[in-house]
Amino acid sequence: MSAKKITIAIDGFSSTGKSTLAKEIAKALNYIYVDTGAMYRAVTLYAMQNKYVTGDNFNTKALINDLNAIKLSFKFNEVLGFAEMYLNNINVEKEIRTIEVSKLVSKVSAVSEVRKKLVKEQQEMGKDKGIVMDGRDIGTVVFPEAELKLFMTASADRRAIRRYKELLDRGDDVNYEEILQNVQERDRLDSTRKDSPLTKAVDAIEFDNSDMGLKEQYERIMSLVNDRIKQ
Ligand code: C5P
Repeated sequence: MSAKKITIAIDGFSSTGKSTLAKEIAKALNYIYVDTGAMYRAVTLYAMQNKYVTGDNFNTKALINDLNAIKLSFKFNEVLGFAEMYLNNINVEKEIRTIEVSKLVSKVSAVSEVRKKLVKEQQEMGKDKGIVMDGRDIGTVVFPEAELKLFMTASADRRAIRRYKELLDRGDDVNYEEILQNVQERDRLDSTRKDSPLTKAVDAIEFDNSDMGLKEQYERIMSLVNDRIKQ
């Protein structure tokens, strides 16, 4: 008999290492991994390409009217070992991680129509369970019935340092202060928006990983996963 499949929801603040952990857990369990932040980032990229959103203006109506033209998909990259984000069949994995997209994504993700479209697609991806999904509203809105919910936090400066190193490693020309400011501003916007604000689900287990290494977090989470699978 094959093992019971569960749904694992990982929410939390920006750059808390959610996706690194989620990828590892999905790999170990042979589950699907979905980075929902990548989906909101891809919609933001589309809005930028079409000038619906700029640093000063946001034509929400134009974006809402054009939502049906946005086709999002993930394709597994065997070499990298994870699924990359495609926007209308074009690989946008690199473009969606830029600081320009990071600066606008929280505005775009606050639009209810955008959330409605993406939540529906996310629920469809997870309908058969066997999924690890990370984001801001997975345990509260997308899968309120998830068997395991985690909520990741860490101090803002630890998170900004992580993000700074990631972008430097990619060869981006970045400024630490700009990243710290972006991490804090996104936390504020994501936690205070009207529709599905970032909040810990009552039954989520909180992890403050300011001083916790990846190995320790992974082991603690895998032990929780094994408990849930046995239940
Ligand atoms: O996870 P990541 O930092 O890439 O997410 C980028 C942004 O997408 C977040 O700051 C948030 O505005 C939005 N987001 C969201 N709901 C999710 C995932 C991401 O609103 N489930």
